[in-house]
Amino acid sequence: MALATPAGESAIHVIRLSGREAAGIVAACFTPLNPERWAESDGFTLHLGRFHDGAAEVDQVLIGKMPSPASFTGEDVYEINCHGGMLTAQRVVTACLRAGAAAAEPGEFTLRAFLNGKLDLVQAEAINDLIRARTEMSAALALAQLSGGLSAALREIRQEILDILANIEAGIDFPEEETDPLARTELLHRLTIIKGHALDLLAGSRTGRVIREGLSTVIAGKPNVGKSSLLNALLREERAIVTDIPGTTRDEIHEYVTVGDILLHLIDTAGLRESEDPVEKLGIERTWKALNLADVVLLLLDVRDAQRGELSAEERMVLTEYAGKVIVLLNKTDLLPDGEYRPPLALQTEGLSLIPFSVKTQRGMDELALDLKERVLAGKAAVSAEPRLANVRQINALENSLRSLEKAEEAMQASAPLDLISIDIRAALEEMSQITGDAAEEDLLTCIFSRFCVGK
Ligand code: GDP
Repeated sequence: MALATPAGESAIHVIRLSGREAAGIVAACFTPLNPERWAESDGFTLHLGRFHDGAAEVDQVLIGKMPSPASFTGEDVYEINCHGGMLTAQRVVTACLRAGAAAAEPGEFTLRAFLNGKLDLVQAEAINDLIRARTEMSAALALAQLSGGLSAALREIRQEILDILANIEAGIDFPEEETDPLARTELLHRLTIIKGHALDLLAGSRTGRVIREGLSTVIAGKPNVGKSSLLNALLREERAIVTDIPGTTRDEIHEYVTVGDILLHLIDTAGLRESEDPVEKLGIERTWKALNLADVVLLLLDVRDAQRGELSAEERMVLTEYAGKVIVLLNKTDLLPDGEYRPPLALQTEGLSLIPFSVKTQRGMDELALDLKERVLAGKAAVSAEPRLANVRQINALENSLRSLEKAEEAMQASAPLDLISIDIRAALEEMSQITGDAAEEDLLTCIFSRFCVGK
């Protein structure tokens, strides 16, 4: 049992109960206005009535009844909609506890849904991502994962690995039987195909990760060019929805802002806040590290200096070293004497993003948003068009699985014994199983024995 809405005053609060005992607990506390309808309902109905704690009436509530197995958790679920005062919600919670409910752990409803086979780990994690999504794109990505497209793609790869393993194990375990394991060349061919599928899935994962976690971004430029003004302008717009992301350390300063529909994870903003200068500190290891790690460098130049061709050595260095990921913001266009922007000759490099900009007037913000979006989507039109990995745990597991498949492929090419090859394939399978949370061993046995007539 848990309060499913945020603590505080609101129009209503929702308290959720799940489990075998839920029906009894609700029966002890709830007097429906229409007892026949309550008793006869097969579920997925709403019922008005009085909620009480012992003899004391607590509130008038509306209860949603969602019986097993079609509920979210797969168990009997009741959702109590009470009035939105915190006191009332607390009293409903207390009444439930007194009637025998246990307070739920964080994520316990989803955990139960997973344990009861209502969703896999990828979908469970997608629920969390959807709740935490801060851009429309990351919400769309999470929703696509929740609907199971990604899970299906992963399962397909896993099933193919399982199939190969079953063939190999059959050759090992029952050599005397006429099990007809596929010839080695055929197995090798199939391994190569699976690898291709895994690589395809990984190909979109950088985009997925960026959408979920933000494009890591460094704001660079010489003193007084407008770096902290830009940071503040971005923060001012988005402060309301910026929250801490778990896993980031306290001693580094991380800021999250959205530009258009792109989440930016600003790194090494500590210097900016103290109005230090990242470009002048280029010799300092930390700044290099930040620039190296960044997906994008926003290099602010004073448009007047740039038009005069006056670029410092540090600015030139950033432009050449990080050409592919630099977006040049030619700042302070509002101060141009004739008000006219001309692309500076010194920056006529092919493919370099040049945006006439002004933190003061907000000129260039839309172009910046567009440029960032193109970088994230790399020319793709929609986020949810194909299954996409976004979660580092899942990406790592798929990469490990791929590595094991490569080892198996090499072993196969070197005509290694089957039992050695099967070790790598089994490792690949286990990594795949970790992604969706499937148990490998039992499935494997079923797969093997359903193929070969062991009982005879
Ligand atoms: P930083 O040292 O790079 O962090 O630069 P600041 O953000 O502290 O800005 C230095 C000065 O430039 C401040 O007085 C800002 O108000 C001003 N400034 C920043 N951006 C613009 C702009 O687009 N137009 C104008 N006119 N002034 C700006």
